[in-house]
Amino acid sequence: LGAGSVGALSEVWAEVQRTAGGLARIRQLLDEVPAVVAPPQPQALPARLRGAVSFRDVRFCYPSRPDQPALDGFSLDIAEGETVALVGPSGAGKSTVLQLLLRLYDPQQGELRIDGLPLVEIDPSALRQQLAVVPQHPVIFAASARDNIRYGALEADDAAVEQAARLAEAHGFLSALPEGFDTWLGERGARLSGGQQQRIAIARAVLKDAPVLLLDEATSALDAASEQSIQQALERLVQGRTTIVVAHRLATVRRADRIVVMEHGRIVAQGRHEALLAAGGLYAELARLQFVDG
Ligand code: ADP
Ligand code: MG
Repeated sequence: LGAGSVGALSEVWAEVQRTAGGLARIRQLLDEVPAVVAPPQPQALPARLRGAVSFRDVRFCYPSRPDQPALDGFSLDIAEGETVALVGPSGAGKSTVLQLLLRLYDPQQGELRIDGLPLVEIDPSALRQQLAVVPQHPVIFAASARDNIRYGALEADDAAVEQAARLAEAHGFLSALPEGFDTWLGERGARLSGGQQQRIAIARAVLKDAPVLLLDEATSALDAASEQSIQQALERLVQGRTTIVVAHRLATVRRADRIVVMEHGRIVAQGRHEALLAAGGLYAELARLQFVDG
């Protein structure tokens, strides 16, 4: 081997290590979730659930606040393919709804089901394979842009990653980075705007292609271009799946099949935008404040 080959080889090796390191770290993070009791004999799930979701008379208190229910008497049935927007003041329990569906916690009373199966009878990691999450503050890993998107489905090939980026309106800005999709992100990597980070999170969800989508919309203001790109990307993403979105934007609320208004861990009203607005009350007040609080 000539000196040139050794140089090239060690570069390839460094690359392999970087990629492997990135993916190992991602796996570690995937496993770092609070403990719920996994059933000894879990129900076998189909490869793809239909995505019907039901909360039946749920009462839930966080462990640190055992007599302050975050949800109380909470019942909600969401049909397969339906988009439900949760709105309500800060502390109403909107994010808690998503956390219970992810089975990060179990309720003290009542029951959650997916496709009619009680969540407590499903293996938590099998359940989470059927749920895609776009969080309020997506985590960007110290890894390549490519691997950051691959976090959505670790087995996906490069073509699938790039297609997901396209659908998430992330392909343009990622291609424009110094090393394109190979550009290192996160710690000591390229800095992304809030809107760009959200599009990475949307690309992960596109790649995961789960029947149920949980979206905790960012409250922070975005530049107009990012805002429009994100709305376009979300419009594509919600097609053909059940979506529960904690909504902070009028555009999202208007697009929902149903708006659920929450206060103090309960549902206080539900319906479409125009009807809720006409009824006045909390929804009209939230709309006046542009849903930004919470
Ligand atoms: P929202 O998303 O509507 O702002 P949350 O679901 O985050 O509301 O919170 C509902 C209630 O639960 C609030 O009173 C909040 O303070 C409380 N809460 C949220 N997360 C935790 C937690 N990890 N530990 C204890 N209390 C929490
Ligand atoms: Mg919240």
